[in-house]
Amino acid sequence: MTQSSHSSAFAPVQPRGGPTRLVGMSREELGAFVQEMGEPRFRAKQLWHWLYHHGETDFAGMSTLAKGFRERLAGAATAERPIVKTDQVSSDGTRKWLLVLPDLQEVEAVYIPEPERGTLCVSSQVGCTLTCRFCHTGTQRLVRNLSAGEVLGQIMMARDALGEWPTPRDGRRLTNIVMMGMGEPLYNYDAVAKALKIAMDPEGLGFSRRRITLSTSGVVPMMQRCGEELGVNLAVSLHAVTDEVRDYLVPLNKKYPLRELLDACRAYPGINNARRITFEYVMLKGVNDSPADARELVRLLRDIPAKVNLIPFNPWPGTEFACASPEAIETFADILYAHNLSAPVRTPRGQDIQAACGQLRSESQRQAKRVRDAGGAASTDRAA
Ligand code: SAH
Ligand code: SF4
Repeated sequence: MTQSSHSSAFAPVQPRGGPTRLVGMSREELGAFVQEMGEPRFRAKQLWHWLYHHGETDFAGMSTLAKGFRERLAGAATAERPIVKTDQVSSDGTRKWLLVLPDLQEVEAVYIPEPERGTLCVSSQVGCTLTCRFCHTGTQRLVRNLSAGEVLGQIMMARDALGEWPTPRDGRRLTNIVMMGMGEPLYNYDAVAKALKIAMDPEGLGFSRRRITLSTSGVVPMMQRCGEELGVNLAVSLHAVTDEVRDYLVPLNKKYPLRELLDACRAYPGINNARRITFEYVMLKGVNDSPADARELVRLLRDIPAKVNLIPFNPWPGTEFACASPEAIETFADILYAHNLSAPVRTPRGQDIQAACGQLRSESQRQAKRVRDAGGAASTDRAA
């Protein structure tokens, strides 16, 4: 499947009629919009500032705009973010929001507070077209791409919830963004790129590209472009050291096998020893957790500026896998350390609210099933 056919087949549904959604619009789009409203183009700069610096959702509060224009905006547009359906806080402080989109599809976003930083895990798609066997999101049948506004809207919603407007210079609680929620961000590149450009704009949400990490399961043809255009940190979901095992765990490997993936990593723009690629490796009992696997991993990564993130497998109902034992994980990490590979073991966060890596999966699936069971409309099935 080509990139473009993939994108269009899963395009977000644009509600007809209704107010124009401003969140996610670029400077150019805002310029065209204000012109359509009969205003001079420079008003777009003011509107941009209210939207993305102040996070203002109420046009009445946009005090530098003429009153008449504010009123017309209120009739024609909205600065709404996705609607928060549930807001759960884990015993460890991790916070998970279930968000409802205009077509009633749902995605999740997770905020992970740590002493030195606060990270928002952002979704790029409703569900995921890929079917990694250990990932709950990959079992979700309903799939569509998020729009740029829906990706950016998650970050803006988190800022709303944390009370972080206008864009703070320092002392932020939300410091880092990881594209590690539901979906494969490089299969929805255009929308993700557009959203991240606004997130990184110093006059917008003001996140440094060094504080943004995009995680991919290995969409090789999009990696170079992502590095060139966005310059964000890259994380690669490796999870296996042979094509045989990776073909099983991450079926996308059949299309872009290990050698091609690692070549694309070597060529990723801007990587060096100070700015390494993170290789994520989910520890699965008896599948990829042996000392021999660890040694092979060292060999594969020997000429790539790399660090490894060992992720204890987070189970979900019906999974065929179990997490590797603590001893196996420790031995594995020790082998990597002995070869100068930084290999922190990721502490699972928010497990009591199903917010940990790979556990995200919205209610939409169950609702769709209820509709089907009742003889209602069919759902959009995942391809492949
Ligand atoms: N689609 C992208 C980003 C989202 S997943 C990707 O695959 O990289 C974020 C990370 O969580 C990935 O490394 C993914 O492989 C991992 N993951 C998925 N399911 C998991 C599970 N059940 N336990 C632990 N990690 C999991
Ligand atoms: Fe999709 Fe990533 Fe889950 Fe694989 S691990 S199914 S690519 S979300």
